[in-house]
Amino acid sequence: MPEKFARVIIDISHEKVDRPFSYAIPQSLEDQIKAGCRVRIPFGSGNKERTGYVVGVSCEAGYDRDKVKPILGLVKGSITAESQLIELAWWMKERYGSTMNQALKTVLPVKQKVKGAEKKYVRCLLSPQDLQEARREAQRKKYRARLRLLEAFSSMPVIPYEAAVHQLGLTAASLKPLENQGIIAIEKENVYRDPAAGIRENTLQKNSDCALAAGQGQSGHDTGRPRLNPEQQAIVQDFCLRYDGGERGISLIHGITGSGKTEVYMELIDHVRSQGKEVIVLIPEIALTYQTVMRFYKRFGQNVSFINSRLSAGERYDQFERAKKKEISIMIGPRSALFTPFKDLGLIIIDEEHEGAYKSDSSPRYHARDAAAFRAGQTKASLVLGSATPSVDSYERALRGEYRLYTLTQRAKKDSRLAKVHVVDLREELKEGNKSIFSRLLQEMMEDRLRKGQQMMLFMNRRGYSSFISCRSCGEAVKCPHCDVTLTLHRDGRMMCHYCGYTTKKPAACPSCGSPYIAGFGTGTQKIQAMVEERFPGVSTLRMDLDTTSKKGGHEEILSAFGAGEAQILIGTQMIVKGHDFPNVTLVGVLAADTALYAPDFKCGERTFQLLTQAAGRAGRDNQPGDVVIQTYAPDHYSIQAAANQNYQMFFEREASFRRMLRYPPFCGLLTIQVASGREDALESSMGAVDRWTAQLRGGRADVWVIGPVQAPVYKVNDIYRKILYLKSENYDILIQIRNRLEELWDKAGFSGGASVQYDFT
Ligand code: ADP
Ligand code: ZN
Ligand code: ZN
Repeated sequence: MPEKFARVIIDISHEKVDRPFSYAIPQSLEDQIKAGCRVRIPFGSGNKERTGYVVGVSCEAGYDRDKVKPILGLVKGSITAESQLIELAWWMKERYGSTMNQALKTVLPVKQKVKGAEKKYVRCLLSPQDLQEARREAQRKKYRARLRLLEAFSSMPVIPYEAAVHQLGLTAASLKPLENQGIIAIEKENVYRDPAAGIRENTLQKNSDCALAAGQGQSGHDTGRPRLNPEQQAIVQDFCLRYDGGERGISLIHGITGSGKTEVYMELIDHVRSQGKEVIVLIPEIALTYQTVMRFYKRFGQNVSFINSRLSAGERYDQFERAKKKEISIMIGPRSALFTPFKDLGLIIIDEEHEGAYKSDSSPRYHARDAAAFRAGQTKASLVLGSATPSVDSYERALRGEYRLYTLTQRAKKDSRLAKVHVVDLREELKEGNKSIFSRLLQEMMEDRLRKGQQMMLFMNRRGYSSFISCRSCGEAVKCPHCDVTLTLHRDGRMMCHYCGYTTKKPAACPSCGSPYIAGFGTGTQKIQAMVEERFPGVSTLRMDLDTTSKKGGHEEILSAFGAGEAQILIGTQMIVKGHDFPNVTLVGVLAADTALYAPDFKCGERTFQLLTQAAGRAGRDNQPGDVVIQTYAPDHYSIQAAANQNYQMFFEREASFRRMLRYPPFCGLLTIQVASGREDALESSMGAVDRWTAQLRGGRADVWVIGPVQAPVYKVNDIYRKILYLKSENYDILIQIRNRLEELWDKAGFSGGASVQYDFT
């Protein structure tokens, strides 16, 4: 049997993960050692025994064989959170093709050298008798401040340093001698930076107010919790019964918008937590708002924490530390919250599971849904997915029986109905002489709502003012000099590339032919805001898009202003349609439904359906009836038809048959190979090689299809040219094998000219 070696990292909380050490695996341990195991090893010149984590096993020492020391043994005892995460990293590396180092950096929070805010306390070290004595002495010597402190000690032996200084009037100089004499000790406590402190105080305050008002003092946490309806109850009962019977697995809750999925999640969390287990709740960043987080705090108080991408590395690290120390048992956050170091994970929930944000766009390019399934499997946890518009992927797996399917078909709030959807054909509008971006129906309804003092949302896929500028003489559009896309015009006259951020002033003449007749085409959010203000003078509007939300807290500010009724119309990109709950909104206008429909991507129909259905779900959340106006040039497209009828089944059947026929996921595995280079000749030669290798590796196999190479939808981004080769097969393992071989061949070829390759599985 060939000798085997393990790569071991010693200290995982620092950047050292890039430096694993090689150790020989003794034959007796060969079957037990895998990524994630904790092992005892001799370390350093003195061979001091230390523990480390195995991050990989191979047949090569990767180092001078004679100097490689053997592993001493496995660490006995329970599995740690870290060992689970390292094993997950290994799985991600294998499944998505990244280096182990990249995978480790993704799953293990790196400790930053950020100092935690410190809190200091003054502790009394005297016995009651000695305290009496010290007080008499202070009185005698007229040490006023000292006397106040000693008197305070009689009721409170530990006093916050702040209070000693500000309320009792002591100074650092007057405390020092007390410390030296052994009367007091000054203690420091590392206080975690708590991103939720504001929210928590707020909610606890509100809870106790409610409780008092309702006259039920103790059970303050129960106030305001709705009674589950029969559909909700059925899910909770079935889930809990299975859970208690030891049955785990993956469930998909398909519940229409506002059907009370979140209430169901909270019941499930309660149940799992009562068995001492921990819970991770993934929510797409964009929907991770004050409103959502607040609901969880109301229910679970101190046991909850959350992370989001706006937290600093230090704040994030602190929250993960709290999880490790079991100070919290529920973590809410985007994709990366999946790596919360809980040891006894019992449940993972992925809300809005169809969201694109669950797929990582840097290596390892993992999908949170699949990574969560693996992580759940490690500790026998359950995984629950929820959505009003499940991904075709998940729904297909549910139909196949791989996931358990639950459905919620009714709005949870009494008297809340799904909105009425109207589809307007924009070609007809033009024929009738309406050149405005607002159809006649939408204008009528907007006027009606303005009269009634109700709110509305206008949804547009594009930010910016006009989407682009083009020349009336030669027809050229003004493009980014670094990318193959047109520049977007903003209201302040700047033009911006939404791919690379390049910004320039609007030219006075056409850069191609010099003609002064250039003008904006298409419509962005900024322009709509201007047009609304022009069409409805005096009406108050708010705009929410990437430009208005880029600063910290921008999101919250706009949403809470709208929630407080500060504006009647909210105009925005897709970020306004995700999961927000505004009871006074009775009209949603989708200004151009088909902007997403013709994207060069097999998922564009799915995305359009999801977006429109979610947008429709924003209207009439309370007891006021809602209307949705969908303006489109393609009123007969099945994605738009299905969304208009709020009919998921109809959409799924059409979409599934299309994908089955054209061999797209989930009926086929899809490997996308993208080669990129700053030089077109280097791109041609390296992509040419990849194409040839692929043909060889495929051999005569009839179950692997190759498409391309073709130029990427946007050929040039940031001065880098990109080409793509697609491989399809129902046999996922074959695709992984081909990818692994390609990687070896690519490394061996050592292309000059700075070409790079990237693999992506769908
Ligand atoms: P979803 O997550 O499916 O969009 P939510 O859980 O946010 O739905 O519920 C929508 C609204 O209905 C919320 O305001 C929620 O408080 C309320 N709600 C949920 N379940 C019930 C119920 N059983 N009875 C009354 N109201 C409910
Ligand atoms: Zn021109
Ligand atoms: Zn650009």
